[in-house]
Amino acid sequence: MSTIPHANHAPPRQSVPPHPQWPLLTAAEKDDYKQRIRALLQQQNACLVAHYYTDGDLQELAEDTGGCVADSLEMARFGTRSAATTLVVCGVRFMGETAKILNPEKRVLMPDLAATCSLDESCPAADFRAFCDQFPDHQVVVYANTSAEVKARADWVVTSSIALPIVKALHSQGQPMIWAPDKHLGHYIQTQTGATMRLWDGACVVHEEFKGFALERVRRLHPEAAVLVHPESPQEVVEQADVVGSTTQLIQAVTTLPHSTFIVATDTGIFWKMQQQAPEKTLIAAPTAGIGATCESCAHCPWMAMNALQNLEQVLRTGDQEIHIDPVIRDQAVIPIQRMLEFARTQLS
Ligand code: SF4
Repeated sequence: MSTIPHANHAPPRQSVPPHPQWPLLTAAEKDDYKQRIRALLQQQNACLVAHYYTDGDLQELAEDTGGCVADSLEMARFGTRSAATTLVVCGVRFMGETAKILNPEKRVLMPDLAATCSLDESCPAADFRAFCDQFPDHQVVVYANTSAEVKARADWVVTSSIALPIVKALHSQGQPMIWAPDKHLGHYIQTQTGATMRLWDGACVVHEEFKGFALERVRRLHPEAAVLVHPESPQEVVEQADVVGSTTQLIQAVTTLPHSTFIVATDTGIFWKMQQQAPEKTLIAAPTAGIGATCESCAHCPWMAMNALQNLEQVLRTGDQEIHIDPVIRDQAVIPIQRMLEFARTQLS
């Protein structure tokens, strides 16, 4: 099955923000921030919902205060189950928007609303709607890493942990599909299912940097290691994987496989949770470096890095950085998200 590239809407080039230069905190300063954040969470009946790619201090705090650390599917589900009236989403913008779409009655805050995602940015809603209109008989399947407006045009929203079974189910019904925005994940799913998919031409700026030839070299140096790859990575990297999976599936692989060493091709923020779950295992970051590069791996999302103790404490104090969504868009976007959650509940449990 060959990829059908969507050539007419090449994504705009991304302007990747520099990693925020948060001043380094001493251990005492960190403790002080954490204490103030705990008190503010309690005062405001708020809880933290953090992604695996955020800083380890934020993940630890989320767990210690009754919040959650998870992938985007579980982050969405957690918000609907929580009794908190304020959700503070530590991650990127589409995660905060999804939380608000599913919980319109709750206040949803983020440490920094400018924390976006290259996949979301590569898929402007007006262009996407025009593309979909060309193929009215196709089911529209979009990755969670999209804006509320793009979700509002979709039949299905999927995360990387559930994309494969949903596409399989649609394919078994003979449905051709539009897939957006990640072309690498779309290509991987297409090769696994044989589905007819028209792929949007987007990519994650972090995962796209993993290099197949450099990974081969690291594998030669560590022949005992298992290779774990997130499917947003390029095909030549995915092809070298022992396990291809979502963040949660990669964490499970570290805890369940007998290997003592793993080469990991996804954002290095995930190492905090992997190390917590399996402290005896050795983790090696898959290389992003090209020939002549000065670093071996710099696989950390610049937008995830915009979440820090400092701006988390600030948003809890000030209440700014709140997510608002047009109610008309919300009412449309909630349908494909609920469809995914219902599929997970009835088909996968
Ligand atoms: S790691 Fe990639 S897909 Fe995830 S938020 Fe960052 S840019 Fe988006």
